[in-house]
Amino acid sequence: MPQPALPQLHPLLRTLTLGLVCLLAACNRAGDPVYRDQFFAFGTLIDLTFHGVDTPRAEQASRALEQTFRQMHSDWHAWQPGALQQANAGLAEHGQASVDPAMAALIQEANRLSTLSNGLFNPVIGRLVALWGFHNDEPPQGPPPAADRIRQLVEQVPASTDVRVDDGQIHSRNPAVRYDLGAFAKGYAIDRGIEQLKELGILHAIINAGGDLRAIGRHGNRPWRIGIRDPRKPGVLASIEPAGDESVFTSGDYERFYEHEGRRYHHIIDPRSGYPAGATVSATVIHPVAATADAAATALFVAGPDAWPAIARQMGVKYVMLVDREGRIHLNPAMQARLKFESEPEAIVMSEAL
Ligand code: ADP
Ligand code: MG
Repeated sequence: MPQPALPQLHPLLRTLTLGLVCLLAACNRAGDPVYRDQFFAFGTLIDLTFHGVDTPRAEQASRALEQTFRQMHSDWHAWQPGALQQANAGLAEHGQASVDPAMAALIQEANRLSTLSNGLFNPVIGRLVALWGFHNDEPPQGPPPAADRIRQLVEQVPASTDVRVDDGQIHSRNPAVRYDLGAFAKGYAIDRGIEQLKELGILHAIINAGGDLRAIGRHGNRPWRIGIRDPRKPGVLASIEPAGDESVFTSGDYERFYEHEGRRYHHIIDPRSGYPAGATVSATVIHPVAATADAAATALFVAGPDAWPAIARQMGVKYVMLVDREGRIHLNPAMQARLKFESEPEAIVMSEAL
């Protein structure tokens, strides 16, 4: 999750900018049932699309969402000052920290999903992610970290099962545990955003954070239609129509990476080796809950072309597509039935095991 600093715009400038964004997106013209807006949070543009909502209500909801997202972004940031950073400082100094109920719930859910993924989605490898230089707004420059420093961290085996959450406190029995929720917080935030929209009576909407999204309801008399990015060239690999209330999340090696001496080092780390997971270039998951989809996309990326069906089953995920380093598409029949490829894939590896 890239997280550059939030732009601090003068309120008037901000209003003008948003107005312009709205104008460019031709949002909610008279008679147009679609309202679109964007704001910046979690290091990416958050795109909102509402169908069939009148402009004043849509604008009000959009502002409310923007506020919630900015708050969550700063509370859960992995390396900028905020509640998560304080919790990590407490773990580092005393092996425990106070957390508010929202943070406790977030951490508990991350821990639960981590266990279901056999630790391949591991939200407590903050020190490894930092060592690789990804606790930074800009991608790092090579060379990669020294092998013995990576080994030292891997040998301490930080695991979410080392952490106990109770009574407003988190306790870790492993001094190497540091939370980095970059693989999960965006999904969790989108779920909170969708709850907020439903409470406001908005039932047909998409919250899209840089291609990772949850969609509810429909686009009028047809379903929503969304594209899944091709991991190796500009454009769309396939499109899908989310049904009712569904999230679509992709983890890719193209999101944050650097190259050194002809090798790509990206931001999804295999906690078992301490190195970027090598066999996958993108993993896409459809699941009703965005937090699960986000954690699972990361876990299945790490699991790779052989191990993904077993991990997907454990995580309760029913639709998966992986693109491997050779460009082969790995998926299960239910996922294939949901996808419309832009062009016929050259190689498909079907897994009946899911
Ligand atoms: P993105 O947010 O770019 O779509 P992910 O959801 O896969 O991609 O999240 C990647 C981020 O999660 C990394 O930048 C890092 O902060 C963190 N991370 C890296 N490897 C893991 C892992 N195995 N488990 C959990 N978090 C990870
Ligand atoms: Mg993820």
